[in-house]
Amino acid sequence: MTKVGIISLGCPRNLVDSEVMMGLLKDKGYQLVDDVTTSDIAIVNTCAFIEDAKAESIETIFDLVGLKAKKKIKYIVAAGCLPQRYKDKLKSELKEVDGFVGTGDIDKIDKIISKISKRPLLVSKDPAFIYSHTHPRDLITPAHYAYIKIQEGCDNRCSYCVIPQLRGGLRSRPIESVLKEIKNLSRNNDISELNIVGQDTTFYGYDLYGKKRLAELLRRIARMNKRRWIRLLYTHPAHYSAELIKTIRDEENICNYLDLPIQHISDRVLKAMNRKTHSSSIKSLIEKIRKDIPDVAIRTTVLIGFPGETDSDFRKLLDFIEETRFERLGAFTYSNEEGSRSFSYKNQIPERTKKERLDEVMKLQRRISEGYNRSFLNKTVDVLIDEKDAKDENLFIGRTQFDAPSVDGQVFVKGENLKISDFVKVKITDTLEYDLAGQAVSL
Ligand code: SF4
Repeated sequence: MTKVGIISLGCPRNLVDSEVMMGLLKDKGYQLVDDVTTSDIAIVNTCAFIEDAKAESIETIFDLVGLKAKKKIKYIVAAGCLPQRYKDKLKSELKEVDGFVGTGDIDKIDKIISKISKRPLLVSKDPAFIYSHTHPRDLITPAHYAYIKIQEGCDNRCSYCVIPQLRGGLRSRPIESVLKEIKNLSRNNDISELNIVGQDTTFYGYDLYGKKRLAELLRRIARMNKRRWIRLLYTHPAHYSAELIKTIRDEENICNYLDLPIQHISDRVLKAMNRKTHSSSIKSLIEKIRKDIPDVAIRTTVLIGFPGETDSDFRKLLDFIEETRFERLGAFTYSNEEGSRSFSYKNQIPERTKKERLDEVMKLQRRISEGYNRSFLNKTVDVLIDEKDAKDENLFIGRTQFDAPSVDGQVFVKGENLKISDFVKVKITDTLEYDLAGQAVSL
């Protein structure tokens, strides 16, 4: 039986595509392996959003080329954003790669593989694919949590972003398809947490129904199983509604956690970014969220060094972060991407300045995060157990509802007979910059 392995790079949205490809191949009789070095065909599902992501994708392909040269694997397939963005160039420059499949054609992965000796390239100009409940998925995440992609593509056209070119315009999945998929997934796995993803989840439904229907979708997902955590990721500050905030507050099992990338707070920069929102709207949105959901943890993302960002713009951002004290924050430096509108903008910021500004933001955030974590000391919180320590049988690793998988902190839990996927009460006894530690307690 032909063995296939995959390396999934980039964000959870890409991970869902990888899971769909693996599900389709399993259905066609291929044997899936976790370790690509033991495969006949190695797929790398690439990311090409910014310079660092492209570099990581290329490096991974070269690692596989090395394995192919040593005859450890037979074929290499490059999938996802990199071939979507650079299809012909990639085909002519990466001769060792045997097949290419773009973001809109991942459902044809079996066809690519069946013609692999002919170096097929399948990259549709306008990606239109969005998976449904009828597509099989082979989960790459631990079995107790999953990502649910409710939409693909984006209509927002932020000036720095090439995602709409890589993934097309907004396509929402019908509500019924999302609910059926969750039912199917839960049949095989005891899923304790569902992470809802898309490019702009707050705009969910607009293309299909002529109105935003995220709040309704979340309510219906939350009521399918009230013990399961539901976590909303990738929202856009311009697209919130009072109904959405109320739904998150009122449905007990929707995590009080919001992933709300603001990118900047200076109105000049927001305008140049085409973020379609203003500092005053962002401020009043955060005020409302904090008033309505008092224990909420807000995760934001900021983009440092956008063309024309002055010292004064940057100070505004720094002051805002200090005042707002986001519980979680990720910061990226601007990457000048060909094909984005801001590629031709004047006043590009030198890399050194970007890096200095980034360091300043992260230094401030470390202090904020440490203070926030200290507020948990001696409190008892619910923790979802993700892992067991390899050496200590009474040590486990989990997360609170305020931590998304892979991006936020963890809780180190001392306890006996705990199981992965369990929700346990944990008394916090120690706090670190980004993580917590405590003892499992029975109440
Ligand atoms: S909201 Fe903006 S940054 Fe996010 S995917 Fe859409 S265009 Fe890109």
